[in-house]
Parts: sequence; structure tokens; C-alpha cells
Amino acid sequence: MVVGDISTGTDVLVIGAGPGGYVAAIRAGQLDLDVTLVEREAFGGVCLNHGCIPSKALITATGVAHEAANAEEMGIHADPAIDMGGMVEWKEGIVDRLTGGVEKLCKANGVNLVEGTAEFAGSHKARVAHDGQGQGSESIEFEHAIVATGSRPIEIPGFEFDGEHVLSSRHALSPDSAPDSLVIVGAGYIGMELAGVYAKAGTDVTIVEMLDEALAGYTDDLAAPVVDNIEELGVELHLGEAAQGWEETNDGIEVATENADGEESTFDAEKVLVAVGREPVTDTLNLESVGLEPDEDGFLATDDRARTDVSHVYAVGDVAGEPLLAHKGMKEGRVAAEVIAGEPSALDYQAVPAAVFTEPEIGTVGMTEAEAEEAGFSPVTGQMPFQASGRALTTGHTDGFVRIVADEESGFVLGGQIVGPDASELVAEVGLAIELGATLEDVAATIHTHPTLSEAVQEAAENALGHAIHTLNR
Ligand SMILES: Cc1cc2nc3c(=O)[nH]c(=O)nc-3n(C[C@H](O)[C@H](O)[C@H](O)COP(=O)(O)OP(=O)(O)OC[C@H]3O[C@@H](n4cnc5c(N)ncnc54)[C@H](O)[C@@H]3O)c2cc1C
Repeated sequence: MVVGDISTGTDVLVIGAGPGGYVAAIRAGQLDLDVTLVEREAFGGVCLNHGCIPSKALITATGVAHEAANAEEMGIHADPAIDMGGMVEWKEGIVDRLTGGVEKLCKANGVNLVEGTAEFAGSHKARVAHDGQGQGSESIEFEHAIVATGSRPIEIPGFEFDGEHVLSSRHALSPDSAPDSLVIVGAGYIGMELAGVYAKAGTDVTIVEMLDEALAGYTDDLAAPVVDNIEELGVELHLGEAAQGWEETNDGIEVATENADGEESTFDAEKVLVAVGREPVTDTLNLESVGLEPDEDGFLATDDRARTDVSHVYAVGDVAGEPLLAHKGMKEGRVAAEVIAGEPSALDYQAVPAAVFTEPEIGTVGMTEAEAEEAGFSPVTGQMPFQASGRALTTGHTDGFVRIVADEESGFVLGGQIVGPDASELVAEVGLAIELGATLEDVAATIHTHPTLSEAVQEAAENALGHAIHTLNR
């Protein structure tokens, strides 16, 4: 096959098959658009292959072992052994099942799948290079394009990922074995989630974080139970320490750090995992040829219809900016496809939930009390500690609370912050309340199943109204 010898046309070209791109492609297919989805590596993107799903699989598996080993109080005596190879194989089975499912769904919705690396080659033209020798490339003419190329882990100077000594989150999710010791650079959600996984798998974990707090972006009362728990697991947390470099020693490696006063420290470990954030993949797309320029951080600016400055080009998912979360990308993908199909679809970010899958979990959505005040509301809050929840007691996990934020005058629910068991699931109830314009009375009057953790959301609403039954009203 000669390079560039094929030329095809499509209504919608989607570049990247992560949660932003595959949702856009499937929705476009459902709306009878002729759609071509190009993916260079693996359907499902980072989320399914190297992010959300693999991390949650390992969190669950190591959590099962940890729970079993620490359940004497429940009358269970066990000493589980972790076979990391078996665990990774199980995780890969889940990934294969999901990525295969995405491919099937794309095909069933008429999406034309192309394997290869795409870049723009004109205002309505892209070139796709197929991998492998002699595989050539093809040109695709498009009416509309959706950029969904996602993000990659940020490399800091002196810590180039080699998969041997210096790991990215991707390496850390497919280990051959758990290292004896691990330094994690970064106490954001990815660093904290993986610290829990490795600590429960028996690794001595040390976290070094440049900032003076872990889980920056979450209020102190949400982060505190997570920090307490990670330290109880034996993880050493060093805040205010910026990683400077590493060198090989006889026993492994030594990671050097420096604090704000210029004092230096070193940490010995077998490996170092760098989890300091992610950056958008927009530099490999030849964006100039389509008339686009990313901002200084590499993101593409979009309007409330996911459209970039070039009106026939859309950007969804991580390339379109914070928050870099799969469900935000999925929503943007859906909206982009609907707008292209002429539907009156638009984005509204008032209730984008976020979750941290640590122990305990954190789930947030909408506004905090301070944000509500800043936005001109007179916020009222209600809180329910899990210690007062019958169901939480029966799970053995009572750290944390549900807080609900509402407007005192209208009663409309504005936000929720949860730290505790299943916070990632419970936050959906608050998100739904915000989307539906529900009031505190609506949430309080909804009969919740007993005994469940979700009763804590109802109780928090009742607490805000001053008539909670199971806790003292404030
Ligand atoms: C360890 C980890 C845990 C995470 N956990 C969560 C979580 O619990 N919840 C959550 O919401 N988010 C989580 N995330 C974030 C989530 O994975 C991302 O927000 C999400 O994957 C972004 O989706 P996307 O479609 O924008 O891009 P991606 O998933 O990054 O997919 C982009 C795709 O585009 C392809 N591509 C790139 N360039 C080209 C090109 N030129 N041609 C063809 N294909 C191309 C890539 O190969 C990739 O498959 C996690 C991330 C990590 C790393």
C-alpha cells in the first residue's frame, strides 16, 4: 500500500476513542450521522485501559484483602496473600471486556472505526498514519471534527518515566509484583489512590508532596479522614517537599527533595511513582492547519456547545480543560454530537461530581458553602456523621459525614460534600437533586431505604431544616 493512497469522506471525524470520543461517536451514529472514529492505541482511552477502571479494580482487590485481614472485630480471622500477577490478570480481564464492549457498541451504531494516528492536514482534512511498516496512511475529508485526544501524565525534570525505576500511573497499574518500597511524588487523587493500593499490597509507601496539603482542592475536613487513614496504613506523608531528582543506589534508588527553606532530604526506595498531574495531548495534531491554537497549557477553549474557535471543530474530554474527569468528557462528547446533528443541546457545569476512591472515599458536587456565599446565595448547611448511621456501623466504616448545601430562602439544593463509605455513589443523589431543582424539603421527604448509607443524605437535609431525628440539630 502506498502512503496516502486512500481518501475517504465523513460527516464527523472523531479523533481519540476515550470516554469523550467514543461517546461522541456512538451518539453521532445514533443521530444518523456518518461518523469515523480514529484511535491510535486502544479503544476506551486512558479511562478504560490505564485510568479509572484499572485503578478501581486494584483498589477493590487490595481492599478485599485488607478488609479480610483486619476483620477480627467482626469475628473473622484471615491472613490473605496477594498474588499481584493474578490481580493484574483479573484487572486486565475487566479491561478487555469493557474495551471489547465499546468497540461492539461503536460498530452497532454504525461508527466507522479506523486504527491509526490522526493529524489535521487542512481545514476539512485529516491524515491518518497506520502503524506498522508498509501500512501507509489515508486522508479523511470531514464536515465536522471532534478532538478527543485526552491527556498524558506530566513528566517532571529529572524523572523521565522508564517503567523500571521511575513509574507513571500507567506503569503502576500493571505491576509484575508489588515493590518492597515506593516513593510517590504527588498527593493528588491519583497519588493517594495508588498509595492505598500499594500500602495494602504490602509495599512501604512514602509520599512527597510539594504543597503543604494533600488532596489540594478538597476542603480540609474532607481530606483529613483520608490522610488519617493513609497514615494508619503506614504511609509516610511528607508535605512541603519538592522532588528534585533521583539516583540509583546499591539497594534501589534515592529520591532527593527540597523544602521551601531550601533544606534537602533523601528517601530510599525500590521505585518512584510520579503522579503530579496530567497535560492535554494537543501538540501532535498539527492544529495550525485547521486554524486552531491551544492555550498556554495546551488546552482547547470551547463554548457551551463544545465548539472551539473554529466553528466546525469541537473539543471534548481532557483536551477541553478541567476537570479532567471521564464523566465530564462523556457529557461533552454527547453534546458535541447532538449539536452537530442540529439538536438544541448545551453544556451546563453546575453539577459535575468528582470522586476520590481512597479510604474513606470523597464525593463532591455543586457548590461548597463558601462558593454559594460567593455566588450571592444565603447558604444553609446540614450534616450527618456516618457514626450515627446504622448501615455505616454494619459495614465497619464510620469515618466521615454527608454535608448538604442549600439556599436558605428558596431551599434549593446547591451542593454536597461527602467523605465516607461509598461517597462516590452517594454523591449522585445530591447531583440529581441539583439537576432537578429539588429543595431540602424534597430530599428530606423522600422515603429512603433503611438501613442504607443513602439515609445519611436525607438526614443531612433534615438537619439543614432543623428537624433531624437521628442526630442533634444545630
Ligand atoms: C490513574 C488514573 C485514574 C483515574 N481515575 C478516574 C476516575 O476514577 N474517574 C474519572 O472520572 N476520571 C478518572 N481519571 C481521568 C480519566 O481517565 C480521564 O479524564 C478520561 O480518560 C479522559 O477522557 P478523554 O476521552 O478526554 O481522553 P482519553 O481517555 O485520554 O483518551 C484519548 C484517546 O485518544 C487517543 N489519541 C490521542 N492522540 C491521538 C491521535 N492523534 N490519533 C488517534 N488517537 C489519538 C489516545 O490513544 C487515547 O486512547 C483517571 C486517570 C488516571 C490516569
